[in-house]
Amino acid sequence: MAFDYDLFVIGAGSGGVRASRLAAMAGAKVGVAEEDRAGGTCVIRGCIPKKYMVYASEFGRSLKHMEGYGWKVGEPVYDHNLFMDRMHREIDRLSGIYARNVRNAGAELIDDRAEFIDAHTLQLKKAGKTITAGKILISTGGKPVMPKEVKGIEHAITSDAMFHLKELPKHILIIGGGYIAVEFAGIMSGLGVTTCLAYRKDVVLRGFDDDVRTHVQEELKRKGVKVITNAEPERIEKTGDRLTTYFTNGEKVTADKVLFAIGREPNTATLGLDKAGVERKKNGAVAVDDYSRTNVPHIFAIGDVTDRLNLTPVAIREGQAFAQTEFMNRPTAFDHADVPHAVFAQPPVGVVGLTEAEARKQFGMVDIYKTKFRPMKDMLTGDEERVLMKIVVRAEDERVVGVHIVGPDAPEIIQAVAIAVKMGASKDDFDRTCALHPSIAEELVTMREKFIPPELKPMP
Ligand SMILES: Cc1cc2nc3c(=O)[nH]c(=O)nc-3n(C[C@H](O)[C@H](O)[C@H](O)COP(=O)(O)OP(=O)(O)OC[C@H]3O[C@@H](n4cnc5c(N)ncnc54)[C@H](O)[C@@H]3O)c2cc1C
Repeated sequence: MAFDYDLFVIGAGSGGVRASRLAAMAGAKVGVAEEDRAGGTCVIRGCIPKKYMVYASEFGRSLKHMEGYGWKVGEPVYDHNLFMDRMHREIDRLSGIYARNVRNAGAELIDDRAEFIDAHTLQLKKAGKTITAGKILISTGGKPVMPKEVKGIEHAITSDAMFHLKELPKHILIIGGGYIAVEFAGIMSGLGVTTCLAYRKDVVLRGFDDDVRTHVQEELKRKGVKVITNAEPERIEKTGDRLTTYFTNGEKVTADKVLFAIGREPNTATLGLDKAGVERKKNGAVAVDDYSRTNVPHIFAIGDVTDRLNLTPVAIREGQAFAQTEFMNRPTAFDHADVPHAVFAQPPVGVVGLTEAEARKQFGMVDIYKTKFRPMKDMLTGDEERVLMKIVVRAEDERVVGVHIVGPDAPEIIQAVAIAVKMGASKDDFDRTCALHPSIAEELVTMREKFIPPELKPMP
């Protein structure tokens, strides 16, 4: 049977763009449908604008730091509209590059929403026509979860809206304890907004190393963010422009904006996957094997819609592996181990490999090396911020299985450390590496003493 396309890709985000470009460059006839803008979550409402907002929010503290170094700075003024305007112009530029790159590779980019009619046929909703494809790649990403059971939830916003605030609120309540909630807490508080973060558990950043979690929570509080824990939102009441959120534990918080950042769900709800016979996991994510194959042999899925590791570089690498396997005759499965990742909190977090708890569960005996210190720069600024560094080592062969950093430039440092960890470096390899002085990162190669919990230390 002749199809309209060799490959049709649904969604031109991080993963879809990489896959479609490579497949088209390998000679396949490729169509890509994008219902919003090329670039997807990362470019339009994720990593990129988020990081610009982090940069914007950091300048306030930098100005204070300058005084410690002899600079006299006048009363600083932040112009939100000017910043937003510049940021969105950059996003437009990047989205344009993504679209151009797809077209330049020879793929057809279609401004439309695609839904399955059957396993080889898709409907393009705006155009009102159907197309057929030999292979179909689902790369529709995810979207923020909003809890319908919270009364008055229509008054709250998601992370998507944070990139379009016409003006900064005076007071914001952020509900959630994942990386997006923590990042926005840092951004808002850095921009001078009175910020409260409410989380239903004890400590933010579930899934991260326990030392990292407590360190980040302490730093949030030290920067003036009010952190309320063990609090589930029950209802939101609007009085004039003010929103009061009531929690099950009796707490209530009044703010001008309420941001829900409690998680994201795969974009599969109205995609018509049942019509194509594609199986989903309990949370709606498309179920795939190591080669991103669904249960239907010619249908594949990559990126956040599969809910494996929801990060841009992972979606890109899954898209690349898919194209290599299906169109370039080079069967490739992306290895999800030791993917470095960051939380652009203030200070930021950089992580690669296992947490201490995961390593103990997996290997039994592990050695821990950790240190907390004030960075040299802050000796003159008076800032009390602390750096945390932690190395998790598998005891049986001294292999470094996890590195966790909270501190300035942690994401930049961890990207380089990730090479060593991925190569299987041992603690001895770290020790043999000469320090670069003076730097924060030198602590990684100068930690010699295993951490012994106080309760296990011999009595003096
Ligand atoms: C606030 C925030 C901050 C983040 N920060 C980071 C970070 O710092 N680092 C990092 O690595 N990751 C970060 N992420 C995650 C990252 O953005 C995602 O992991 C990544 O974008 C996933 O890529 P994807 O290709 O799977 O999906 P997406 O990039 O989401 O692309 C999916 C595309 O499909 C389109 N689409 C959906 N359904 C259809 C349909 N039926 N028809 C046509 N088009 C459709 C959507 O419009 C979208 O453009 C962040 C996410 C958020 C929300």
